[in-house]
Amino acid sequence: MSEVKYEKYVSCKWLESGVCFDNGVYGSNIKLCCYMSAPGGGNTMIIEDYHGEKIDWNDFFRIKQEYRDIQKSGKTVPGCRGCVFLHEREWPQENYIDNILIDHFTRCNCSCTYCYTQEDKKRYNSLKTYNLYPIIKDMFDKKIIRKGGAVGFGGGEPTILPEFDKIIELFLKNGFDNMRVPSSGIKYSKMIEKGISTGQLSVVISIDSSSRKTYKQIKQIDAFEKVANNMKKYAKAKRDTHYGVISKYIIIPTVNDNEEELDNWLKFNKENNIEVIVIDIENSWLNTYRDSEPDQRIVKLLHYVVKKAKEMNFFKLEICDRARYLVPEYESDEDD
Ligand code: SF4
Ligand code: SF4
Repeated sequence: MSEVKYEKYVSCKWLESGVCFDNGVYGSNIKLCCYMSAPGGGNTMIIEDYHGEKIDWNDFFRIKQEYRDIQKSGKTVPGCRGCVFLHEREWPQENYIDNILIDHFTRCNCSCTYCYTQEDKKRYNSLKTYNLYPIIKDMFDKKIIRKGGAVGFGGGEPTILPEFDKIIELFLKNGFDNMRVPSSGIKYSKMIEKGISTGQLSVVISIDSSSRKTYKQIKQIDAFEKVANNMKKYAKAKRDTHYGVISKYIIIPTVNDNEEELDNWLKFNKENNIEVIVIDIENSWLNTYRDSEPDQRIVKLLHYVVKKAKEMNFFKLEICDRARYLVPEYESDEDD
């Protein structure tokens, strides 16, 4: 086996060894990553207008190499300009994939007011999706996929994808141990439970509330009890890990931005052995106020949650990028 060469330059794990199967605002395609908040806008294509066709992997890696070469030359891929994930280090000069984002579907069984699909819910709920399983299987067969990175989902609701169980099973079987599945939590998935019980997978449920009334206001569906019960059930499947179930709360100003709702959410998590919690802030609200003075009431509320979570001794509190924009003094615990 020939020795792997390393070279030092500015790049990121997605550009080097990542792939995002996307189907959203920009249509169905394969991109370097799903990150679009960089000043450059992200959205760098590997294959445009992609609908599940067989992939020529030589061609795929030739295109990725062109982006890598731009970085190696000291310039920056236009979409990556200013991205926080760029950093200088020794990068292996190999062609493989270890970070995968499965985001080729948009259908969902929930209806969060803050979701991008609200722009045209009917359309996003009826968009056709190709089968990704054969592509991932092909990647395993050709030894293109490697353990070590992360597998994530976008969407849409992953658990209602007909091939969801098959895809997860394939990653579990191949020893992947860093999978995060965001889910509405409305449908209980035995496959998620299996991944949690082996310590290979975490489900992220953004319940955003601690009461039926607030939940319904945000999700436009009456499913608080169902979601809370499913979270409890998933948490019972955990074995020797703090992960497994990640509870998220997106603060939506004027809707769930009060201490009582947050207190009860923290209490619910603690009582049910949900030890990893995430705080975020609603995107459109933040974008409206991004250039003005931060709203001190929301800043105060963020400080309040951090303080409470520390007092209650949660294993981990993640503060998402958007929320950290308002409270930059807190370190990010998220992966780069
Ligand atoms: S640098 Fe940022 S925008 Fe570019 S591939 Fe990496 S994560 Fe995506
Ligand atoms: S659960 Fe996710 S995909 Fe579904 S409506 Fe809410 S934000 Fe959108």
